[in-house]
Amino acid sequence: MSIVSKFGGTSMGDGPCMLRSAQLAKKQKSSLVVVSATSGTTNQLIALGKCAESDSWDKAEEIIRKIESKHLEIAKALGCDQKILSRVQSLLTEMKSLAYGIHLLKDCSDKAMDALMSFGERLSSELFVTAMETTYSTESKRPKIEWLDARKFVITDDQYGKAKPLTEKIIQQCQSLQDFKNGKSVGVTQGFIGGTESGHTTTLGRGGSDYSAAIFAEGIGADVLEIWTDVPGIATTDPRIVPEAHPIAEISFTEASELATFGAKVLHPATLLPALRKNIPVFVGSSFDSAQQGTWVRLKVTNQPLVRAIAIRKKQVLVTLTSAEMLHSHGFLLRIFNVFSENKVSIDAITTSEISVAMTLDDSTLLNKNLIRELGEIAEVHVEEGLALVSVIGNNINHTPGLAKNIFESIVDINVRMICLGASKHNFCFLVKEDQAELAVKKLHKKFC
Ligand code: ADP
Ligand code: ASP
Ligand code: MG
Repeated sequence: MSIVSKFGGTSMGDGPCMLRSAQLAKKQKSSLVVVSATSGTTNQLIALGKCAESDSWDKAEEIIRKIESKHLEIAKALGCDQKILSRVQSLLTEMKSLAYGIHLLKDCSDKAMDALMSFGERLSSELFVTAMETTYSTESKRPKIEWLDARKFVITDDQYGKAKPLTEKIIQQCQSLQDFKNGKSVGVTQGFIGGTESGHTTTLGRGGSDYSAAIFAEGIGADVLEIWTDVPGIATTDPRIVPEAHPIAEISFTEASELATFGAKVLHPATLLPALRKNIPVFVGSSFDSAQQGTWVRLKVTNQPLVRAIAIRKKQVLVTLTSAEMLHSHGFLLRIFNVFSENKVSIDAITTSEISVAMTLDDSTLLNKNLIRELGEIAEVHVEEGLALVSVIGNNINHTPGLAKNIFESIVDINVRMICLGASKHNFCFLVKEDQAELAVKKLHKKFC
């Protein structure tokens, strides 16, 4: 039985958290452990890149000091030996040089930002090796703990900031990791980061460590993928919004994918793709309280409730394209989709009328001036900001009479700006003003979960 275990940022938060996570990895007999940056570090690295690029080198230095002291404190708490300490020190020096290079150029390109962000996971994984060694130190027959550079295994294209993993190449690279399955060695590697074929550092997008762990699980042909986080499994909605939300014991790949895509941060939306390809069951649990039941995500599940969970995806904009050319003509949608495809932007929800198309996008998309300009050449473009998508996730959603009535009755005082139903039997989503979205989630959760 081979297990890939991933520990998120809060599970790597400080020395005691790392030790707790390492003990769990040992208890689970993990073959390969994939770790995130310590919590908050990726945000700090992004802020560092932005400060370095602007004139604020003083501010950049302040951030560097914070990152340094956080990691050196953890190293001290874990009692890291000289070898690890000097590796950590040299990473910190490299990080500082890169930030200064960005400052000199006054240019933090996506490529430079990926290189900078990679220090979060590279630092935490070095420290985690010590946590693992300490945990195993009392065993007479202990495995060798091996630090692995994820950039040599997770081969990606060069779309910096959101690189695409090249599956065949990854599987080829992971051939050399087969030995980890026999228990003689345990690997410790980084989530979130990858490398192009020519050796440049990339990242898989925010929250991408879950995805990395799934890629490694596929690569080594693991039997189980474990995602250890700060909540005891996938819940009926975000427990930060509804404290009564309860963990779901079992959920299908399709429902969990919808949930992740439509905003549940507990899993990166792409995580389930590799797991699905190899039919690897995924367990989600809390590293802080591993005795709690957690959630199993599987291909087939015994119970298929009409409503499983409610998701919320904030920071949405609604882009409406209107053109009389659409009237009784064909090929218009193709032209629109081509613009999105060429700009590598994905649409979340979409509706059409005779002369207009409305679609929701992440608000960061508006930074892509090229996209908006090219859309403007085809149609009149109207943008509404400050919206959120609320989704009801479950089974047989589009074939159940009375469901829409029940949904809208429970949020009768909230204006619904757009509705999307029909494409999936697992999802009914609608768009509301962002400041009313959490209220809608609370009301729907009360009614259905
Ligand atoms: P990690 O750093 O371990 O990857 P994340 O912060 O990325 O953790 O994801 C865990 C968080 O996801 C939880 O703290 C919770 O607030 C949020 N979340 C959103 N929706 C859900 C849900 N349906 N079930 C559980 N957690 C959820
Ligand atoms: N450290 C990365 C982030 O904060 C990846 C992850 O934690 O999953 O986005
Ligand atoms: Mg996460």
